[in-house]
Amino acid sequence: MKSHGIRYFDNNATTQVAPEVFEAMTPFLTSQWGNPSSAYSLGHDAAEAVNVARERAAALLNSDPREVVFTSCGTEGNNTALRSALEVSPGKRHILTTSVEHSATIKYCQYLQRSGFEITLLPVESDGSIDLHLLEKSIRPDTALVSVMWANNETGVLFPIEEIAAICRSREVLFHTDAVQIPGKLKIDVKSLGVDFLSLSAHKFHAPKGIGLLYIKRLSRFQPYVIGGQQERGLRGGTENVPGIVGLGRAAELAVANLDVEDRRVRAMRDRLENTILRTIPGTTRSGAREPRLPNTSNIAFDSVEAEGILLKLDQIGICVSSGSACTTGSLEPSHVLTAMGLNAARARGSIRFSLGVYNTDDDVDYVLKHLNPIIAELRAESPRAEIRSESQHPSSKTRQRQREHQVSVD
Ligand code: PLP
Repeated sequence: MKSHGIRYFDNNATTQVAPEVFEAMTPFLTSQWGNPSSAYSLGHDAAEAVNVARERAAALLNSDPREVVFTSCGTEGNNTALRSALEVSPGKRHILTTSVEHSATIKYCQYLQRSGFEITLLPVESDGSIDLHLLEKSIRPDTALVSVMWANNETGVLFPIEEIAAICRSREVLFHTDAVQIPGKLKIDVKSLGVDFLSLSAHKFHAPKGIGLLYIKRLSRFQPYVIGGQQERGLRGGTENVPGIVGLGRAAELAVANLDVEDRRVRAMRDRLENTILRTIPGTTRSGAREPRLPNTSNIAFDSVEAEGILLKLDQIGICVSSGSACTTGSLEPSHVLTAMGLNAARARGSIRFSLGVYNTDDDVDYVLKHLNPIIAELRAESPRAEIRSESQHPSSKTRQRQREHQVSVD
């Protein structure tokens, strides 16, 4: 199933709800609308559906179902893990993380810093990797938590989570990983990874927005963030989002089933797209290590052109991609990830992220390859800034204009 006329290359931002997921959710939006805490059968049926979804989510993680706590999104999972680690060890006031985390971690760390906690943001190498010796050296006696994302959402670069978890264990420090970009792309096995906390967000793997989970290793000391009723065994208050949870459970099953497809078919399409662009369009460079990397992501810098201009032109012909900039009124802020990797502002502002998914076809890739080269040539022939101004006044770019008016970032 495809949205009409759209060639979607932004699967790291969000994904299309799978028809199977929609079908599984529908009864819980129509006839089965009970509250799982209610004592009558309408409630029991909803509670049973939540249990089934928890088992499916646990199968995705290779965890015990009791280690799964449903949340509202990846941001909540990250915030909760960081906050909990500080609260269970009041004497520890330091968090160690990286300079390329998603804003769901970095912005929360900045907030913690303003509240008196200490934060270390580890630098990255020019290929987006981190130095594990530096990580180990940066752990302090008062470090409450180390938080390192498994895959970077902008470049797809993977971090060695198993090794980092081993370092943290040997130093008796809790370890959280933001694994939001992983389901359906890589196998997850929390037992062999050895992490204490792991966050996921269902809209990144073909379920709807507004539902996620936090894996909490059994018997870990944990302080809930959302406090209220006894839902989620007292670990997260608030009436369960039953349709969302059911959707997440079905999407978890599909993610396991589609893993092979993503790794082979999607990787082949990504590689063809990336290699052809780098070979046929002059002044292009890939950002981030070639490997280890997510099979679906490619981040490419186009010299002497503003990514916003490319994005707008592609949007006009139905192609969705992300740019490596955050736009504020009148200016383009280069991505913190690309800047941390040492790209200069101009190159970061000329960067486009392509992120493919299971619904992409070879025809989509051909379509992009056919149109991209002339678009880049045209933009390079004009003044990039003038191009952006004229595009933003065009009625067909209303959505992009809205983005310009409010700060947006790459998800
Ligand atoms: N972490 C990463 C790596 C992401 O890509 C995203 C996506 O936006 C998030 C966290 C936040 O997830 P959510 O949108 O569900 O809050």
